[in-house]
Amino acid sequence: MRAAVLDDAGLTVREWPEPEPGPGEALVSLTKVGICGSDTHFVIDGTAKTAFLPIVLGHEPCGYVEALGPDTEGPAPGTRVAIVPLITCGECDRCRNGKSVLCKQRLCIGADCHGAWADLCVVPVSQLIEAPASMPDELVAVATDSVATAYHAVATQGRVREGSRVAVWGTGGLGLSAVGIAAALGASEVIAVDLREEARGWAMESGATAAYHPDEALGEITKLGGVDTALEFVGKSVTVEGAVRSLDDGGRAVIVGVSFEPAAAGRIMTFVLREREVVGSYGADRSEVELTLDLMASGKLTLPRVVGDVIPLDDVNEGVHRVARGDTGGSRIVVDIRD
Ligand SMILES: [Zn+2]
Ligand SMILES: [Zn+2]
Repeated sequence: MRAAVLDDAGLTVREWPEPEPGPGEALVSLTKVGICGSDTHFVIDGTAKTAFLPIVLGHEPCGYVEALGPDTEGPAPGTRVAIVPLITCGECDRCRNGKSVLCKQRLCIGADCHGAWADLCVVPVSQLIEAPASMPDELVAVATDSVATAYHAVATQGRVREGSRVAVWGTGGLGLSAVGIAAALGASEVIAVDLREEARGWAMESGATAAYHPDEALGEITKLGGVDTALEFVGKSVTVEGAVRSLDDGGRAVIVGVSFEPAAAGRIMTFVLREREVVGSYGADRSEVELTLDLMASGKLTLPRVVGDVIPLDDVNEGVHRVARGDTGGSRIVVDIRD
């Protein structure tokens, strides 16, 4: 089969042995698989590493069940499925207490085991969710990681609900989905903040009630009295500070952007006297991927810009570099495995 394989020399598409499903596993024939920001770290800058090399990358997949392993129950061959990228043990304290994204035995496909930029991949059947019939493959693919990660940040970590006032700092990639999710959950204000006029325009198309350049955002949000939830998708000290300072009393800042930058987020007394909270947000669990698919399939969550360009597998290395430059045409570039 063909696969996009990362080794010391970089990412190349080459012939690769077909995987075989063992007990409890399924062989999936892939159709569309997204390119994630983490892939740029594996391939280009090395700020995140895979567990081993060479490795097949790709962790945002849609495909069809091709076969099940011996003595394995699961979706019948031919079923169209989304694959949940985080594999968790389901038995540890964290898994049993609704915190499986923090499972100590957590593995991510395409990072800790072989992934889905390939004709075929093998995953535990517990990772499979039947794809809603109304959703095209590329939307199913991005729902598993990009949109579900935003859902975890907005709904679970950010506790956004009907009537919440929300600010989203950084609306290029995941933040753009966060805007749509906050609107779908009934937020009364969804304020988008981004340097780029294009990204502010996308946010308005996705359900934002206002969009501002970072230089004017804080002044405008302060006029409203601040927000209940501020989501940060950039990973820079300046935007973390902006997110925290945009909070009303008792507000919650959710940090999703990743970097090694240190962050200072304002005077200590403002956290005490105003009971401000700052929390992190990582990934999404299976139930959140299911909720994300439901929201999208029902039409409550429409994300007109979530899929940007669709490219063939042969161009995936260039696609990863385009993601790193922000040249995507939307939230995500998606790889068409069968093109
Ligand atoms: Zn990812
Ligand atoms: Zn666990």
